[in-house]
Amino acid sequence: MSHKLRIRRDIAAMSAYTPTTSLDVFAERLGLAAEKLIKLDANENPFGPSPQVIDALANLPNMHVYPDPESGRLRELLADYTGVPAKRILCGAGADELIELILQLFIEPGDVVINTPPTFAMYGFDTPLYHGSVIDVYRGLDFSLDVAAIEAAVQEHRAKLVFLCSPNNPSGDVIDPNDIRRLLALPATVVVDEAYIEFAEAESIISWVAARDNLIVLRTMSKWAGLAGLRVGYGVFPDALMPQLWKIKQPYNINVAADLAAQVSLQDSAYLLERVRQLVVQRKRLETAFAELPYLSPYPSQANFLLNRVIGMSAADLRDRLARAGIIVRYYEKPRLFDHIRISAGKKEQVDRLLEALWSIAWG
Ligand SMILES: *Cc1c(COP(=O)(O)O)cnc(C)c1O
Repeated sequence: MSHKLRIRRDIAAMSAYTPTTSLDVFAERLGLAAEKLIKLDANENPFGPSPQVIDALANLPNMHVYPDPESGRLRELLADYTGVPAKRILCGAGADELIELILQLFIEPGDVVINTPPTFAMYGFDTPLYHGSVIDVYRGLDFSLDVAAIEAAVQEHRAKLVFLCSPNNPSGDVIDPNDIRRLLALPATVVVDEAYIEFAEAESIISWVAARDNLIVLRTMSKWAGLAGLRVGYGVFPDALMPQLWKIKQPYNINVAADLAAQVSLQDSAYLLERVRQLVVQRKRLETAFAELPYLSPYPSQANFLLNRVIGMSAADLRDRLARAGIIVRYYEKPRLFDHIRISAGKKEQVDRLLEALWSIAWG
């Protein structure tokens, strides 16, 4: 590297994270038309946003004016939706931005963050960028959380943050509220990422934040409201953290299009939640169908996706064969997941095509 490029050595040495890509890029890579592809790799909402959002954005006013730095109207609507007062809610450009803000707020060089893989990649990816050290406390073979090992790791490393995901991405399980209660007794702040809670039968723990000074709950409009491309998430924080977060948040992080789209979605939440119910029906349908296939073993899920162990066949090959049929699913080149694939629930007709493709693979 040139001596003039005095960038951080740890970043220069880092390997690149490969996020999911757009339909057009997949289409070009596979030599198929984008409209023909079925994208079931990123837990996106196949129905897209509410039609009211599309109308509202077609007539979007005030693009030349900076957005409300407090996202005041949006936070009021989120307060109605969650039952949490607006003063405890902060919006981010996706839940992803809030993960970064939390790290910025807590982590001094060398401070430890507990991660519980296999789980959402961003906790482990972002921590070193903010000069923290990640301690991985792996989930059990059935992907259940190892609470005793987390307790021991927090004590041993004086960890400041514990990131938990419930329902967990990619395994789909919900963390037992008693386990979260146990972890809240630790001298660390527990961040519970509820990105998929709208798809779960289990109850949210969002109301617990009022009575705890070490619990943060993250949510997103990306999955249930179909706004992944517009980037809106939110967090519910203990009162004492709010003034500190307001100091460090980028003032215009929620752009005018995202702000309006999120507001209109919340006003149309009954309609969007009906679509969520339809996706849950399709997830249950996939669960039954996969269990009948000779080479897939699904894990029970409360999200809009299913993790499956692939038996007697390479999971990467299975991904490639589905891709050639125009169906994109997620394969992870990661410990514990080498023989697994994750498939998002789609619309009924997409699931029909997926099952057809899977059975034709089964019959060779
Ligand atoms: C998709 C996802 C997010 C990202 O949310 P954005 O609001 O789109 O940044 C956060 N957490 C988990 C577990 C996710 O799967």
